[in-house]
Amino acid sequence: MPAMNDRKTLDERQQMTDLERLRHSCAHVMATAILRIWPDAQFAYGPPIDNGFYYDFDMKHRITPDDFEQIEAEMRKIAKDNQKFERKVISRAEAQAMAESGRLGGLSERPGNPSRFKLDLIDKIPEGEEISCFQNGEFIDLCAGLHVGYTSKCKHVKLMSVSSSFYLGDEKKGQLQRLYGTAFESMEALEKHLARLEEAKKRDHRRLGRELGLFHIDEMVGQGLILWKPKGALVRRALEAFITEELDKQGYFQVFTPHIGKLELYRTSGHFPYYQESQFPAIAERDVLEKLADENASCATLINGLSDGTYEGYLLKPMNCPHHIKIFASDPHSYRDLPVRLAEFGTVYRWEQSGELGGMTRVRGFTQDDAHIFCTAEQVAAEVTACLDLVKKILSTLGMNDYRVRLSLRDPASDKYVGSAESWDKAEAALREAVKTLGVEYTEEIGEAAFYGPKIDFVVKDVIGRDWQLGTVQVDYNLPVRFGLSYVGADNQPHIPVMIHRAPFGSMERFTGLLIEHFEGKFPTWLAPEQVRVLPISEKTLEQAEAAAAKLADSGVRVTVDRSSDKIGAKVRLARLDRVPYMLVIGAREAEEGTVSIRHRDKNDLGAKPLDEFIANITGEIKTRSL
Ligand SMILES: [Zn+2]
Ligand SMILES: [Zn+2]
Repeated sequence: MPAMNDRKTLDERQQMTDLERLRHSCAHVMATAILRIWPDAQFAYGPPIDNGFYYDFDMKHRITPDDFEQIEAEMRKIAKDNQKFERKVISRAEAQAMAESGRLGGLSERPGNPSRFKLDLIDKIPEGEEISCFQNGEFIDLCAGLHVGYTSKCKHVKLMSVSSSFYLGDEKKGQLQRLYGTAFESMEALEKHLARLEEAKKRDHRRLGRELGLFHIDEMVGQGLILWKPKGALVRRALEAFITEELDKQGYFQVFTPHIGKLELYRTSGHFPYYQESQFPAIAERDVLEKLADENASCATLINGLSDGTYEGYLLKPMNCPHHIKIFASDPHSYRDLPVRLAEFGTVYRWEQSGELGGMTRVRGFTQDDAHIFCTAEQVAAEVTACLDLVKKILSTLGMNDYRVRLSLRDPASDKYVGSAESWDKAEAALREAVKTLGVEYTEEIGEAAFYGPKIDFVVKDVIGRDWQLGTVQVDYNLPVRFGLSYVGADNQPHIPVMIHRAPFGSMERFTGLLIEHFEGKFPTWLAPEQVRVLPISEKTLEQAEAAAAKLADSGVRVTVDRSSDKIGAKVRLARLDRVPYMLVIGAREAEEGTVSIRHRDKNDLGAKPLDEFIANITGEIKTRSL
């Protein structure tokens, strides 16, 4: 949603989809219902949003979810009454008079209770812009539209949640209540939406991450800083091993770089001081701090000195690129050794507002599946195509075949871009060709490219149809120049290489969060932290169970033994709850025959098989990374 202070033009306000029009109309119906119950309510602002609508208001009673039923019942009555939404153009003076009397955003005039937010909103309407109000039944609201014809359309509606908000997002202007609802054209669509929300809750990676022991966030370590627990680390390692295998095949070299770098490095790259608000504050050098302390200098002196380069210090790295650039620059290069592809699971730190943090998807430290390719202009097309091949391979292995691609191009009319028009044309054409090889839906967004190069973004749809923004493949004409990179061409002259940044999954944290939700914690065997649990029926077969587990572990299978004294039914239930793909039950008969009774998490009873046969099957399944 755009910031409310960026006032939309009348034209923009009136560009609503049918569903937005319906939902916004429901906000009027909701306001009508609230006023019938609490006539003192003062309404502020009630737009449609992504999955529904809200209305901000102020009143004495504080709404809780216990009130929803009563409000919804009133809304249903209003829908049943089939009130017409009637538009009326009014003069500014009329609008002000109506607001003064409390009539705007009310069911009647309310002496002594003027429509104070509406008065302010009227003030914000530019001179000369048409002012309109809409009436349904007794309710009149200041509104530019658009609405459905009658309130009967507003019957497939549900109140979702209530929170507090600030008038026009401004903390100083006092707190309001914000009531969210959603609405659809049909009961069926509404129910489908609610079922999907329920499903999303069931899959929530924050809850599953806790229940399955995958990761932990500890207040004492810090918000947005993920602690990967042993089981989560196993998932990540399996994922990294898979990606590494593919990178090796594609001629990448892995590197390791430190988590900090000198400010000078980021001044050169341009990351500092320009993006300070999204970085952790700089770390000043010890002697600088001591000197300034001796001088009783202020914090401002320190901050300004670090920003302008008077003082040196370090930064937790917000990006891996400068480090990789320095690796490339540490050797002379000829056109014959290009492209150079440097990959790293590189951890970076960004300062996110604490309100935005949650689980693995918004974090302050994360590990990118990062790589930088240094190549000639002619090699861009092939390199980008190879990047996309990798994405395709990994997503299809994970069963994520529903994704789309956004191609961000320059605005040819603007002059903010670095690099020649000719090289941009070439790179844009190369990206477009590469995207086409994916055979998936893609959009071209003119003017969305960064000033330093065009890029490709990926958006994956998970099993319940939600979009997840992943990473990018980005062409860069800027950093090679800033760092003075060069290679010797076939003409024996120095040339500037092109750089490609690519982190197709964005971060291991976010991607793992997506995978937890996508699989509902039921990772395919190759990714499962615990692949097999051996369940002895009683103490009598514990020894055979341990022996079977040892043999499995020896074959590279991640296996545990349930040594508890629980009944076998309870052991099976627990293993299922832990989403373990295979359970091997060993009773007296199996112990004697050297077999195991195999149960699968989803496929139930697979019968008894010799242990060796099971090992051959599961190691095959792991090796091929079957779903
Ligand atoms: Zn309206
Ligand atoms: Zn980069």
